[in-house]
Amino acid sequence: MLRLHNTLTRTVESVRPLVPGTVSMYSCGPTVYRPVHIGNLRSFLLGDLIRRALVWTGVGVRQVMNITDVGHMTDEVYDRGEDKMLLAAADEGLAPGEIAAKYEAAFHRDSARLGIVPAEVYPRASGHIAEMIDLIGRLIDRGHAYVDGGTVYYDVASFAGYGRLSRNSLDQLRAGHRLEAVDHHKRHPADFILWKAAGPRRVVRFDSPWGEGYPGWHIECSAMSVAYLGERFDIHTGGVDLTFPHHEDEIAQSEGALGHPVVTTWVHGDHLLFSGQKMAKSSGNVWTLDRLEEEGHHPLDFRYLCLTSRYRRQLRFVPDALAAAGKARARLGAHLADWGDALDAPETPAAKEWDQRFRDAVLDDLDFPRAITAVWGLVADEAVAPGERAALVLDWDRVLGLGLAAVAGDAAPGDEELPAGAAELLEARQTAREQRDWAESDRLRDSLEELGVEVSDRRDGTTWRRRGQ
Ligand SMILES: [Zn+2]
Repeated sequence: MLRLHNTLTRTVESVRPLVPGTVSMYSCGPTVYRPVHIGNLRSFLLGDLIRRALVWTGVGVRQVMNITDVGHMTDEVYDRGEDKMLLAAADEGLAPGEIAAKYEAAFHRDSARLGIVPAEVYPRASGHIAEMIDLIGRLIDRGHAYVDGGTVYYDVASFAGYGRLSRNSLDQLRAGHRLEAVDHHKRHPADFILWKAAGPRRVVRFDSPWGEGYPGWHIECSAMSVAYLGERFDIHTGGVDLTFPHHEDEIAQSEGALGHPVVTTWVHGDHLLFSGQKMAKSSGNVWTLDRLEEEGHHPLDFRYLCLTSRYRRQLRFVPDALAAAGKARARLGAHLADWGDALDAPETPAAKEWDQRFRDAVLDDLDFPRAITAVWGLVADEAVAPGERAALVLDWDRVLGLGLAAVAGDAAPGDEELPAGAAELLEARQTAREQRDWAESDRLRDSLEELGVEVSDRRDGTTWRRRGQ
């Protein structure tokens, strides 16, 4: 059974779905007015790894990821009265809807390139204004919200559990606000906006019982998670920076309106750091998958890099580490090609032991660094037959998502010339393979690799190609 760290309880707990056999999961998705960067993608990858681990162990998953496509992303926006969607639209000479459609498509393309399995539903905020208005109405009725000049605020003091997820108290939160910056309409500095009255220059606006306006950011996740997953669901994922206020506020909204807990397990992934800073547009250190490819890397090399660090740890992004990850992925593919046909299932005790090690690591709060160690341990274990090694690695790649079968397939025959000495090595290796001397075969493959020749073994014989061609 998969175990995950629950931010709410600060412990690692078994995932026991409310509906046996199917886990319901909500993942905070992208804001679609600019390309996502690889720091965002690391956060989306967390949901994918949970999903793949569950499916791999025979559990079904229903996953929902929201698309934030109306311009109300942060509290900062309210203060400055700017709409990031509109700013982006003006910059690019497009209508707000065109900007959203463009970057939503780009997001799906990036997710696919990173091997992220699509969620079942991608609801757009703009399509769920009615659900948000309904939820806000319920919060007013239950005494958790108040209206001031067409703007609706959440009254944090009315919700006993406020601060539980992020370990904040109302007193701490009050002390943390600079008094001059506090909106004087708020009863408590931590009160947050559920619905914002539209100013005269606001273009994207909606009718509501409180006048024309637009929803706060947090309310969309409460409204859409409950709409698609029901009043109680299993897992909620997001980046660690969403713990407060976004998820704290989501809990206050959902539980305030429904009167009971909604999410069982909150899972948060830590930041990707670049030059010691969180990767963010505002710090100007942004890498996208496009840039990564322009610099000669494969998007799945970034995925491999992410797997070398645990999701709750910060990951320092260094281009050299990306190159090393790329080499490791290529080597795994080459081994796979080399091993030939996979057996149906591992049978020998040695193979089963490796399988258990890999499984234990993945199920232990997604310990992928340990799982990767098991992968390389298996690769080097001559006691396991090549066909068994191939079977295991292909099965494990259902969780890793490194596209290893394709990497192996790319190790295709070439018609280039061999470097000096390589023909002899290939011949010696052929002899070793006929004698089923896998250790010698592996040794010779490494020697060939040093000469820049990658070999792959297929049903119809061994092929080779010059590396980098
Ligand atoms: Zn969210």
